[in-house]
Amino acid sequence: VGRVREMLQTFDLVRPQNLDQALAAVAGGEATLLAGGTDLLVRIKRRRLAPKMVVDLSGLEELREITEDGDTVVLGTLATHAQLIDNELATRCLPLLVQGCATVGSSQIRNRGTLGGNIMNASPAADSIPPLVALGARVVLRSLAGCRELPLESFITGPGKSQLRPDEILTAVVAPKMQAGEKCRYRKLGQRTTLAISIASVAVKFDFDRRTRTCRQPSVAFGAVAPVVRRISALEGLLAATTLDEVGIREIAARAREFCSPISDIRASAEYRREMCASLLFEVLDELTQV
Ligand SMILES: Cc1cc2nc3c(=O)[nH]c(=O)nc-3n(C[C@H](O)[C@H](O)[C@H](O)COP(=O)(O)OP(=O)(O)OC[C@H]3O[C@@H](n4cnc5c(N)ncnc54)[C@H](O)[C@@H]3O)c2cc1C
Repeated sequence: VGRVREMLQTFDLVRPQNLDQALAAVAGGEATLLAGGTDLLVRIKRRRLAPKMVVDLSGLEELREITEDGDTVVLGTLATHAQLIDNELATRCLPLLVQGCATVGSSQIRNRGTLGGNIMNASPAADSIPPLVALGARVVLRSLAGCRELPLESFITGPGKSQLRPDEILTAVVAPKMQAGEKCRYRKLGQRTTLAISIASVAVKFDFDRRTRTCRQPSVAFGAVAPVVRRISALEGLLAATTLDEVGIREIAARAREFCSPISDIRASAEYRREMCASLLFEVLDELTQV
């Protein structure tokens, strides 16, 4: 009992039942938001965080919805990884994101962990971020003062850092639908096959012409090999200009090392990460261009 008491900290808990109440609760800029809690509660228990007030978003049903809006899909921030994997619209129009969500943690983590929480962790290794960046997704941020929309790619500014203001809530992610026939792959390397944080990851999508073995409108993002996930436009240019036979794919994968700036940490050395990024890209391109 003593140990459990030691692990718990005291904070005010606010449980809004709709978005207006939630926005009012965060308006003072003092609140810490709670979604699935798979990251936040671990940080509180380990005393890395001592919030004064926690605003629990889980009662906001309107933020769980996944809907269509023209040529985009609007993903409510409280959509869980499991919900996204099972969702017909997401599976059909955003298969790259669904592949990323399917690699997150274990089924328990996928059942509780939300897309918004994954983004707001702003970890370079977060598995939804490379797919969303490769898709060109935007984030929707709301406060009592109004609503703004930013590209996800510039919203995250460093590990654990974003442009979210203390009075704002991330309410949705807007992702352009993939075109019919576009190919995509998210591939991650971890220390194990499940419950593993990415050592390196690669998200790729393009339209492939089997006859000429060339691709149009390629989009590439790497995870866990730089402080923030960004599209690699130089590599995309190379992809668009190269015949994707075995020689071409090998050349491009080898060049991937140039576009990484990884760190060494408890999971892997920087050099290993660079090598693995090249290997993952080779595997993905090889698979996507099989006739
Ligand atoms: C055992 C384990 C394994 C894991 N494996 C993986 C993995 O393989 N891949 C991976 O990417 N992640 C992994 N994670 C991390 C985590 O589970 C995911 O990032 C998850 O999606 C976080 O979502 P959540 O709803 O639980 O976030 P929470 O813990 O509720 O919140 C996370 C952060 O986001 C903020 N936040 C949440 N929602 C909002 C919002 N709407 N607006 C503004 N701020 C918000 C919170 O204040 C907090 O700072 C793992 C975690 C654990 C414990």
